[in-house]
Amino acid sequence: MDYRTYLKNYPDKDGKFGKFGGAYLPPELEPAMKEITDAYLTICHSSKFITELRRIRKEFQGRPTPVYHCERLSEKLGGKCQIYLKREDLNHSGAHKLNHCMGEGLLAKFLGKKRIIAETGAGQHGVALATAAAFFGLECTIYMGEVDVAKQAPNVARMKVLGTNVVSVSRGQKTLKEAVDAAFEDYCENYKDTIYCIGSAVGPHPFPMMVRDFQYVVGEEAREQFKEMTGFLPDVVTACVGGGSNSIGMFLPFINDPVEIVGVEPMGLGEKTGDNAASMTYGSEGIMHGFNSIMLKDEKGEPAPVYSVASGLDYPSVGPEHAFLREIGRVKYDVASDEEAIDAFFKLSRYEGIIPALESSHALAYAMRRAKAGEAAFILVNLSGRGDKDVDYVIEKYGTGEKYKDF
Ligand SMILES: *Cc1c(COP(=O)(O)O)cnc(C)c1O
Repeated sequence: MDYRTYLKNYPDKDGKFGKFGGAYLPPELEPAMKEITDAYLTICHSSKFITELRRIRKEFQGRPTPVYHCERLSEKLGGKCQIYLKREDLNHSGAHKLNHCMGEGLLAKFLGKKRIIAETGAGQHGVALATAAAFFGLECTIYMGEVDVAKQAPNVARMKVLGTNVVSVSRGQKTLKEAVDAAFEDYCENYKDTIYCIGSAVGPHPFPMMVRDFQYVVGEEAREQFKEMTGFLPDVVTACVGGGSNSIGMFLPFINDPVEIVGVEPMGLGEKTGDNAASMTYGSEGIMHGFNSIMLKDEKGEPAPVYSVASGLDYPSVGPEHAFLREIGRVKYDVASDEEAIDAFFKLSRYEGIIPALESSHALAYAMRRAKAGEAAFILVNLSGRGDKDVDYVIEKYGTGEKYKDF
């Protein structure tokens, strides 16, 4: 089966991937989601939409991003295993998130909406969406907890420079959850002229489907590029998993190939609840944020507190398609700790001249672990973003990395 057949078959018309996914919504939002679903299903087959998206990817985003062979790093790790990177860090604005934000912006434009909104935690999604809004000439409002506004000053500044209205949410704990609530309220009131743009392959149908459709260009390009460079397919394909957008985009084009596929979740400081965000590893089935998937729960069954050194990975659930792909046995999920991610961050910087995002460092850490174990394999890692955003924090907390220099 070609992977395109898989894409056609999943999700089903109710947005289900097996038992996962769906849309669990307050009744007042049902018409809005139906409008988006219907419009998307029409537009995604329109040659005008597809041609325009291709032009944007090439001329504005700088796609295709390259695949790069880490020769020095592979050699240092024993030389049996060869590590390759898909360089999403070279995508405009520094990460894969722009892939789905440009798609969502174009959809808003085709639907005749004049405004896009979202919430953001660390600010990465906010910046990507603000970039799309500026490109398309759409109004943009980003909700952000007051605590995060203070912590993520550089991203707040970037959004403002791009012309976005950043709303600091000061109720409750003043973090991501309250920002989600505020953005939802805005959407309920304004859905006639506004689209809510979700920042990962999560949320109610059709978002997990749309986001993965906008992201699988990553895996499509990488598969062709890798084949062109080596003459064969990689043995292992891996990516970090927060909500699951960069990973699903990387994985799906390999789904019918004889390739091992591994998603890497953040183990943070350890296995205690609240010390990690390894939803697939420690979670169980449940409904949150409008969809059924695997999630981390506290004793009361509410979303558990989560932690990772990479703030883009600290989400207590995971996209429904990942839950499905694990259930059918196609994709495996493993973990990498803060410490391993920091080690990978410094080693890629020092030995290849590429500073990776702390999120992406988790996937690289997993590949490095296998290489170090002496495995003879070709591993393709999705380097989802660049680490410029992380350097100040890393230096403050871990110094300049002397400790991580040796193999
Ligand atoms: C947000 C982010 C992630 C995590 O999000 P996914 O939806 O799981 O891809 C990973 N890497 C980078 C660079 C990010 O900004």
